[in-house]
Amino acid sequence: MSEPPGLRTFPGYTEDEGLDLGHLSATAVGAIVQRIADGSAALFADVAASVGYCSKPVRLVGSSHTVDGRTGEIVGSFSSDGAPLGVVYRPCGNRRADVCAACSRVYARDTFAMVRAGLLGGKTVPQEVASNPLVFATLTAPSFGYVHGVRATGGHPTGGRCRPRDTANRCEHGRPVGCMTVHTDDDPAVGGPLCVDCYDWASAVVWQWWAPELWRRFTITLRRSLASRLGVSESRLKGRASVQFAKVAEFQARGLVHFHALVRLDGPGGAGSRAPLDGGTLADLIREAAGSVSFVAPPVDGADVSRRLAFGAQLDARTVRTGLPADDDDDDSLRAEQVAGYLAKYATKSTGTDPASPRPHLTRLAHTCRAFAQRAASSDPAGDHEAADDASEQGRPSPYALLGKWAHMLGFRGHFSTKSRRYSVTLGRLRRARHRYRQVTANAARNGVALDTRDLEARLLADDETTLVIGSWSFQGSGWTNAGDKALADAAAARAREYARWRAEGKSTSNR
Ligand SMILES: [Zn+2]
Ligand SMILES: [Zn+2]
Ligand SMILES: [Zn+2]
Repeated sequence: MSEPPGLRTFPGYTEDEGLDLGHLSATAVGAIVQRIADGSAALFADVAASVGYCSKPVRLVGSSHTVDGRTGEIVGSFSSDGAPLGVVYRPCGNRRADVCAACSRVYARDTFAMVRAGLLGGKTVPQEVASNPLVFATLTAPSFGYVHGVRATGGHPTGGRCRPRDTANRCEHGRPVGCMTVHTDDDPAVGGPLCVDCYDWASAVVWQWWAPELWRRFTITLRRSLASRLGVSESRLKGRASVQFAKVAEFQARGLVHFHALVRLDGPGGAGSRAPLDGGTLADLIREAAGSVSFVAPPVDGADVSRRLAFGAQLDARTVRTGLPADDDDDDSLRAEQVAGYLAKYATKSTGTDPASPRPHLTRLAHTCRAFAQRAASSDPAGDHEAADDASEQGRPSPYALLGKWAHMLGFRGHFSTKSRRYSVTLGRLRRARHRYRQVTANAARNGVALDTRDLEARLLADDETTLVIGSWSFQGSGWTNAGDKALADAAAARAREYARWRAEGKSTSNR
């Protein structure tokens, strides 16, 4: 008999267990020794913990006063002079796991809480929302040529051959149109085209550049077809129903984004009010809208063509909740918690361009972005006859002029996670609540009083502010000020991640 998981001890979680610092530079070692010698090591540990072991925190100097809005009385003052280490550190807050692992975990947790509240209620969203129809939709990019990929076989997501075809079949460049390899995820060829000359790099980049526009048109079309389904004009739709969504963009191996969206149908009273249609009908409307949306993208310059852009044929709209009274939870159906987890995970993913070993096809896409931006900048609208026909277009900067700035995002300029206004609580409000929580716990500790937990969450999330914070802060810089601090913060963050994983594993074993 093995011991209960709750009683297992986390390896390396005792006070005297050292952190794994990996290979340290001589400067880092010197800086750590210095912290120990001048007695600031404990202060540093507190500061690092207060920013959640952010790997590149922002440093601020200045002061602020907390004022009671009703009486005008100053109830507290704070200055960076009084802060440990003489400067205020704030977490960088970066979404991407490859930029700051610690902050991206906070971002993922907030995204999860935001998405979950929109599904099941809580955090200012009424509980009744849990009976509104819900669809999980994935809108993809179309194909711009055959690419290598990890394929499924016999019910397994991997192990299948890439693209089994007669090896004698060649494209016009003499390259095989098939590939018999069984690729794995870490294979740099995955996502890259079978033939670099057949692949339509230009259209792929133009599609990605306009993907946010396609999404915008999709939401308009969906609302329009919902109105017509209900037999009301668009302006009257509000009186019958509204569509709310949370969406994230996820980069695929080929370097193009997919949109994953949770679409919820509310009744006239908003979240929790009875919807006039069920989830199955909503899924049909979503499929129709996504399939019919298109946009004609203007050419990059006089030598280019305009392109009609649309979403890919591979379109998925699954009903998570029908919203019908007799909605039996069958085991195959997606769970609300599960989809919230997917969205949170996708939201922290990067483009997959590892600067140390860039995948050739992603490098090529980024290069195409820069080349287009250059062409857009050097094309003279006045000398271009097509453009000159339309006087209003004259002298206006090309829509592709900024493509170069987004080359590192492979031309995707949209937000990674967005939600409609009334889907759920905002990420900003969750962040503010966390900040207030830190303040009230610090106050309770300082004054030696017990933390009042009654309605604590509601108070933290409350929008009405009776106290004002007036301050003047200036940006001193970003990042830890020496290599030793950074090494310690990163090691502590890694240890915290291991601990979270270990705890999650323990939970799943104990559930068995
Ligand atoms: Zn950070
Ligand atoms: Zn292949
Ligand atoms: Zn070819």
